[in-house]
Amino acid sequence: MRTKQLYGIIYMVIDMNLDLVKGIGDKKFEYLSKMNLYTINDLIEYYPYRYNVIKVIPLIEARDGETVTIKGIVDTEPKISYINKSLNRMTFRVRTDNFLINVTIFNRAFYKNNLKLGRVINLIGKYERKNNTFTASDIKFEIINGMKIEPVYHLVNGVKNKGLTKLISDCFNMHVDIDDYIPEYLQEKYKFISKLDAAYCIHFPRSLELLKKSRLRAIYEEFFIFMFKMNYLKYKYDLDNKGVCRLVKRYEVDKFIDTLPFKLTEDQSQAVEDIYNDLVDPKRMNRLVLGDVGSGKTCVAVIAMYINYLSNYQSSLMAPTEILARQHYESISRMLEGTGIRVGLLVGSLKKSEKNKVCEQLENGEIDILIGTHALISEGVKFNNLGLVVTDEQHRFGVNQRSNLQNKGVMCDVLYLSATPIPRTYALTIYGDMDTSIIKTKPSGRKEIITKSYKEKDLKNVLFQMLNEIKEGHQVYVVAPLIEDETGESNLNDVKKLKEKFDTAFNNKIKVEILHGKMKNSEKDEIMESFKNGETKVLISTTVIEVGVDVKNSTMMIIFNAERFGLATLHQLRGRVGRNSLQSYCYLISNYDTPRLKVMEESNDGFYISEKDFELRGEGDLFGTRQSGDMVFKLGDIRRDFKILAQCKMDASKFISENIVNNFSYYPHFRNIIKELEFID
Ligand code: ADP
Ligand code: MG
Repeated sequence: MRTKQLYGIIYMVIDMNLDLVKGIGDKKFEYLSKMNLYTINDLIEYYPYRYNVIKVIPLIEARDGETVTIKGIVDTEPKISYINKSLNRMTFRVRTDNFLINVTIFNRAFYKNNLKLGRVINLIGKYERKNNTFTASDIKFEIINGMKIEPVYHLVNGVKNKGLTKLISDCFNMHVDIDDYIPEYLQEKYKFISKLDAAYCIHFPRSLELLKKSRLRAIYEEFFIFMFKMNYLKYKYDLDNKGVCRLVKRYEVDKFIDTLPFKLTEDQSQAVEDIYNDLVDPKRMNRLVLGDVGSGKTCVAVIAMYINYLSNYQSSLMAPTEILARQHYESISRMLEGTGIRVGLLVGSLKKSEKNKVCEQLENGEIDILIGTHALISEGVKFNNLGLVVTDEQHRFGVNQRSNLQNKGVMCDVLYLSATPIPRTYALTIYGDMDTSIIKTKPSGRKEIITKSYKEKDLKNVLFQMLNEIKEGHQVYVVAPLIEDETGESNLNDVKKLKEKFDTAFNNKIKVEILHGKMKNSEKDEIMESFKNGETKVLISTTVIEVGVDVKNSTMMIIFNAERFGLATLHQLRGRVGRNSLQSYCYLISNYDTPRLKVMEESNDGFYISEKDFELRGEGDLFGTRQSGDMVFKLGDIRRDFKILAQCKMDASKFISENIVNNFSYYPHFRNIIKELEFID
């Protein structure tokens, strides 16, 4: 065990492996590693995604039928009756304030020994005044007075919320010494509480007010580090901003554009114009193409890579998932047929020998365009003369990964593609270090996707529409929030159960397949292939298909528990249909009327939706579910916490300009961050 001595106190080093912690055996370690939790620090920063607020109220305030928590004293010995093998009922009386009430609780006979006469307990359940009965769903023995805020964590099979809570609490009890990145003068300026207190409070909040303060501090730190990296990269970029100067004639590019099966939209043409100018200029390109789903960013990137090829440089294109990388590989190879450009694919699941071959060809200059996942930035991948790096759906990648790929070409140009439509002012903050080209217009002939929300009980209507589409020879996506409801406790739809449901509804006559992140890559490929060639009619999946998947013949997207997804995700998912001139549909299945679903029904315009998204997400969203698909921050949400982000941008930029001269000598943490950013393998 590594420890360090500080003022005579032994502090645990925060990156200590969890298997060295008392109480964590091999089994538990394995479960935790499934959640990517390996060190004490990982656990401490594994923040709850929401909280249960339990408030104890006096019985007179309880409304009939409402779930409440009360406090009382056990007044009679519990009696147990067995209704059948799997159902037992326990009854006893409880004194609360000046009332004596009858308590009933099912299947908790094992509590009997804890319910000694005179014991004070909390009861959670519903009170019925008419017959003075309290039907409890649970009993708490560690007494809550007033209010308790319980953390709720994302879990995997084998780890329970209670157990995890205990583990995290144990970590804090080990005198952990936690790295604080926020420079002292900023801590003073904002009167932040200490990092350790804040971290503790995020897990175990004593009050909502403290929780808010603690979260603010943690979010500030996350954003500050992020903005530091962004600003630092920009600084470096400006410093050595001599790129390659390409001698490519415009007409050569236009000749290629003429071979495409469609005419570029106005915005696509403008983006190509911007990129061409960047590439022939000796200044390095650092450009973001921001465009709604389906606006045709990929082909703009292909044209950029074509220009790069004409000037005898290699390009790489990095996609966030293997499905996407393979899809790009296929469609781009097709687009470039007859040009002589050699396209290669590098993804994690390739055999070692295949990988080696690709790497060899790359190094010899026998591949002109390499497409892949983050396998591209792994060690051992060496380019012959990389001139252009394209990153698709860049919000999925950390800044570190970005700079790593950049470092592979000495002075290469970079192009980012992003489908996160965010209002321009916000884009300027988040992508402030880049030039932007915005694609707003959709390819012509596209119809609005008809969007409707339905309650689950009205699913029949949807099934009927679905059959119609399938009869027409079209295909349908279905999305659910879970792969499998492992705990059986959530009321959410899951992929596996939905498959059974649809198979039954269709009498197994229609080919329904499932796709999710836990499948083997070969399986995923097979299923995608069978969906692409139209054999599979219905594809049920989690949000793995959210980003970029392109199957033109699919005309219907059905999203279950739509209330669980943020607007950005819903819009991305809807973008999987409406990819040609066919009329497409999007059905949002939800038993809740959230304003988000209305926004989706109202509009197909990603930029409008993103404006609404910013409006709808005020501070009130503290307990809301996180949106996926954004840049990944542990707590921060670029929309909700935009003000903090903007402040961090200013603070980080000032911090850099003041400390760069002495190479951050007072700030070892930031020196380490820089080392990471500049790491060239
Ligand atoms: P995204 O911006 O979501 O990455 P894609 O580049 O995948 O969009 O393009 C979506 C679909 O539209 C693709 O099938 C592509 O071939 C097609 N497409 C792109 N540009 C045009 C255009 N100008 N006219 C018609 N179809 C186009
Ligand atoms: Mg794309």
